[in-house]
Amino acid sequence: MDGLERGNRRARTEIDPHPKAAVVPAKREAATQILHRIVVVGGGAAGLELVTRLGDRLGRRRRAEITLVDCARTHLWKPLLHEVAAGSLDPGEYEVNYLAQAHWHGFRYRLGQTIGLGRAAREVHLAATVDDEGRQITPPRAIAYDTLVVAIGSLTNDFGTKGVVNYAVPVETPEHAARFNRRLVNACVRAQAGPVHPGQLHVAIVGAGATGTELAAQDYRTIREVVAYGLDRIDPERDIRIILIEAADRVLPGLPQRISKASARLLHRMGIEIHTGARVTEITGEGLKLANGSFIAAELVVWAAGVKAPAVLHAFDGLESNRINQLVVGPTLQTKRDPDVFAIGDCASCPQPGGPGPVPPRAQAAHEEAAHMVRQIERKLRGGTLLPFRYRDFGSLVSLGGHTTVGSLMGFLFRSRHVHRRVVRPVDLPRSLHGPRASVERQPQRDRGPTGTCVVTTNRAGGEVALAVDIGGVMT
Ligand SMILES: Cc1cc2nc3c(=O)[nH]c(=O)nc-3n(C[C@H](O)[C@H](O)[C@H](O)COP(=O)(O)OP(=O)(O)OC[C@H]3O[C@@H](n4cnc5c(N)ncnc54)[C@H](O)[C@@H]3O)c2cc1C
Repeated sequence: MDGLERGNRRARTEIDPHPKAAVVPAKREAATQILHRIVVVGGGAAGLELVTRLGDRLGRRRRAEITLVDCARTHLWKPLLHEVAAGSLDPGEYEVNYLAQAHWHGFRYRLGQTIGLGRAAREVHLAATVDDEGRQITPPRAIAYDTLVVAIGSLTNDFGTKGVVNYAVPVETPEHAARFNRRLVNACVRAQAGPVHPGQLHVAIVGAGATGTELAAQDYRTIREVVAYGLDRIDPERDIRIILIEAADRVLPGLPQRISKASARLLHRMGIEIHTGARVTEITGEGLKLANGSFIAAELVVWAAGVKAPAVLHAFDGLESNRINQLVVGPTLQTKRDPDVFAIGDCASCPQPGGPGPVPPRAQAAHEEAAHMVRQIERKLRGGTLLPFRYRDFGSLVSLGGHTTVGSLMGFLFRSRHVHRRVVRPVDLPRSLHGPRASVERQPQRDRGPTGTCVVTTNRAGGEVALAVDIGGVMT
């Protein structure tokens, strides 16, 4: 439904976020029953779980009206992107279609990019959407809310480094990941056609967080697999170089030191070059320059360093944001200046009492915040007291390709070739949406067997199993 959404008690006219764009007249509320309007902006790891659970619990029973707004039509869990980039995963098999998910789970989905907020009128402002031919699909419009949850995630942060926009490839969306994969395969095919020149099959990955590290390990395998399919002019040992560059003094700087060490050892063994304490000052068409004056030749440069929230949150109708655009929230996940606006996931700066800093921008945190938010909204509707959110770190797993995973769960460090990280096997969703593997891994929320096996943060409603570990992992 275009224009103001059904359930708008104030029957406002639509505001026009683009001064020159056409204004669509407001539609009067048709519903006889007035429902509390919960609008969730962003259907990623946090938002999709939230609307799915709210839809099941409140929307279907007509206890509230739940609306998801997202600028995309489908959701693919971001921790899978490096597998799309490496060509080892078909996104179509794992994507969640918002429209279908909304139909099955009692919420409404509205396509559009949020470009502003009107707190006085309680509206989020969406830009017009256009199709591939440039024809308008939806006009600029406003969606009215009583409770708003902002969950628009994060982007990589290039810290203004010269050349990143023009020459580096981000891996933030399935489109980015597919583009990277095409460039990788094209580089191999090009190298086969003529003499391989220096740097032609070099991939430099800037940022050795979980994303960069996993991508490096995946690429190592992918290029060799592509070459093995008959590209006999390429000598993998001589021609291929994967270079991981990190400004901090170790790979995986956000994880415990012992995980960093174990991962670095494995990466070295694979032949991946690691440069730590290395700050990139510029990216060019031929490679990248480091602060120490050295130059690394590379046909492909991936930027996977740092995160920041989308710029729209920087001045989101006066809400407090930090230097990386995250909305600052209190322990209840409410924004500091408006108790009806909440923020969760990567775009929120949420305090973590006793922790090293705010809650980290991780899928696990997004899931926990979404689960807390469901209960919070139910309390809000009942007029109850909102409770503080407490982040529980269940540990991390870093997949180094093949069957090798390094991680720390519940305080254990392990390295195993038998432990597999299983992610995004959407559950509780129609099989037709998710392909044959959809029903895998419905696990108990948390289990710890005699061998120390753990199942971490199972997300039943939103469609993700964040991290799950097989029995049989070798604890070291
Ligand atoms: C390549 C990669 C690998 C990762 N691997 C791991 C991992 O192994 N483990 C881990 O814990 N974390 C990992 N992360 C981080 C993890 O994916 C994020 O912490 C998590 O996705 C955050 O969830 P979110 O809901 O806040 O944001 P997202 O999942 O990013 O979702 C944001 C949603 O908002 C929508 N959106 C954005 N802007 C707008 C707008 N203006 N209007 C409307 N909609 C908008 C987007 O389309 C998207 O659907 C990885 C991230 C990346 C990029």
